[in-house]
Parts: sequence; structure tokens; C-alpha cells
Amino acid sequence: MQQTTRDLRRHNRAALLSHLYRHGPGSRLELMQASGLSSASVSNVVSDLISDGLVAEAGSENSDGGRPRTLLQVRPDVGHVVGVDVGETHLQAGLFDFTLATIASVTFPIADTRLVPERVAELAATAIEAVVAKAGPHGPVLGIGVGVPGAVKPDGLVHAPTLGWSGVPFPSMLATGIAESLGGAPLYVDNCARTLGQAEMWRGAGRGAERAVIALLGVGIGAAFATDSRSGMTSTTSEWGHTIIQAGGAACRCGSRGCLEAYVGAEAILADYRSLAGAQPFVAVGTEAMLAELVGRAAAPGSAGPGAAATALTTASDYLGIGISNLINLLAPDRVVLSGWAGETLGPAILPQVRAAVDRYALSYMSGQTVIELGQLGQEAVALGAATLPIVELLAAGGRLPA
Ligand SMILES: [Zn+2]
Repeated sequence: MQQTTRDLRRHNRAALLSHLYRHGPGSRLELMQASGLSSASVSNVVSDLISDGLVAEAGSENSDGGRPRTLLQVRPDVGHVVGVDVGETHLQAGLFDFTLATIASVTFPIADTRLVPERVAELAATAIEAVVAKAGPHGPVLGIGVGVPGAVKPDGLVHAPTLGWSGVPFPSMLATGIAESLGGAPLYVDNCARTLGQAEMWRGAGRGAERAVIALLGVGIGAAFATDSRSGMTSTTSEWGHTIIQAGGAACRCGSRGCLEAYVGAEAILADYRSLAGAQPFVAVGTEAMLAELVGRAAAPGSAGPGAAATALTTASDYLGIGISNLINLLAPDRVVLSGWAGETLGPAILPQVRAAVDRYALSYMSGQTVIELGQLGQEAVALGAATLPIVELLAAGGRLPA
């Protein structure tokens, strides 16, 4: 009986804290309406959340004819979380406050590790220590989330074909490398597209969508399918980058042919450009900088017409439009968000062409229900996504901090 009462209290705390986190600031009345709890229960739980330092009063709003209602919001200074993006071109760590505002971030090139798991784990631990130090004095680090471009199985083994990892115990490697001062902070590792989807739904271009596809564009291509309803938010991932869009097409590094990634992955776009007549060598070094240079060249065509850079972007937009059309016909999302570092670099240049391609390829009565938008989380999107991992756990536990 006692256990049941405690479970109920924790459930109620989690429900009200999560609602304020996602939709706040809000009044006690709004919390009653959203949760179905009685006025007395809401008052009790809110008192607890305030005395535990998780929620604070934040001004008031006018009610129809009655007294002004006090608004409540989650306190950003509850503590901090770290998010780490283990990408193929860089490793980035961000320190965020409890409401996911960025305090500091650090980025390291990852090429020097040659993607050897032990060395990537060392670099991640170094980045975590560096970002915590860069942020200066701050509250406790409540948890560390790490996003990897692969699947993390329940046994803690990571399968990331794009990194060449098969059954790598990356979470335990990383845990032993993290400084003792951070050893108390729980560590979570998950697929980077799934966590990015979560972040765009909470804080970015997915807000307000009921069924969204968040596309992660980089060297590899991923996608999360996120749903948001009264019963909560979910984000799942799939191997969209390895769906086939061309029979017998371009060789993909997964071993198959004609995969979406072999046409719209950052390195595939650069390779396509190099194969075109009129292509010039890049001044920039590194995949990310070269892609930015390509976008710059496409925006400044020569006198002889659109030029090779613009042609390469048009081709990539067309294939991306095909990939998105397949998703629309399969999943009927109300929103598609182009995110990830390459989405950030390419997005403004290709969005009109991608939309036009979707109009050509998707069933019109399906695509008419879907808007295609650019991500809103910038270059830190994947690190921010990883930081949602400890936040989800804290909200589910009603904000009770690890002892
Ligand atoms: Zn493939």
C-alpha cells in the first residue's frame, strides 16, 4: 500500500514537471486540466516541486474576471547536463542548463582518432572535461548524454557501421575515462538521430508537430520519426540512409548499391561535384569546410550558366526529395525537418528545390499535408539532442536527483 502511494506521488510529480518543462510557464489550473488531477493534488505536488527547487513562480496571467493566476515554470538552475555528439567529422560536447540553454561548447576534429573506439572514448572524455572547465563555476552536472551514429543494444554494445564499430562496449569505455569529479553523473548513450529528433521536437522546428520526421544530414544520412500526443512524445530511428532509391545505383559504404546516402551524404555530394565538367579543386580542407565552399560557389555562378556547384546541389536536392517523398508516402508526417550539420550548411540553398522535388514525386494528397522546414538548433543540434537523454530520465523520476 505504501509503495503504491509512493508510486502515485512520483507519477504525479513526473506528469506535472514534464508538462511545465515542455509547455510552461503554466498556471495550477492549466496543470489540473492537462493532468486530470484534483486541485488539492496539484497544489500539493507543486508545493513539493517548489520546495525541492525544481519549479519557481514566474509572474501571473489575468483570468476571466477572477484573481490573476500565478504562473509556474521549471528553474533553469536546477543543474546542468552535458551532451556529446560523436560524429564522423567532429566530436562536440555542450554544457546546457536544465532547460537546455547552451552554456558552453567545444568541438574537436575526430579524424586523428582514426575512429578507434578506445581513442574516440578518450577524446569524448577530454571534450566533456574541457566543456565543463570552459563553462566555469556552475551547478551540479546531473547527467551526461552521448549520441552515436549507430544502434545501442540493451547489453551496452554499440553497432555503428559508419564508424566501423560492431559490438563495441563504448559506454563502459567512456565511463572509465570520465574524470572522477564527473563519475557520479549518470551516463547515457543512444542513437544520435533519435535524440536529435527529441531535441527538435522539444526546442526546435518540430515543436507543435504531431508526427514529424527529423532528417539528420551529414556524411551519413539518418532520420527519426517522432510523435507527440497527450500520452507523451516518442522518437524512433530507422536506417533511412540505406533505403534504395536507384536499382544498381551508386555503391554505398554499407555494401549495397543505390542507397539514399550514396547520393545525398556530404561526401557523395562532393564526389558528384568533382565528377562534373567545370569542377574546381577546393581551397578548404575537410568535408565540412568543403561542403560550405561548394554552397558558396553555387551561390556565385560564373558567366557561363549555373555551373558545376549549382548542378551538384540540384542533383542532391532531387535525390533528397525522392527520399523524403518515400517517407511521406509511408508515414504521412505533418512535418519534415532538415537537421544535422550538413542540413545547417546546405539547408537554405536547397530547401526550395527539395520542396519542388517532393511536389513532383510524392502523392499530392499526402504531401499536401506535410510541411518541410529547416532545423532550428544550429551546429549544436546533435549535442543538444544527446543532452535530452539525462533530462528524460530526470523528468520521468519526477526530478528526484541521483543521491
Ligand atoms: Zn547503404
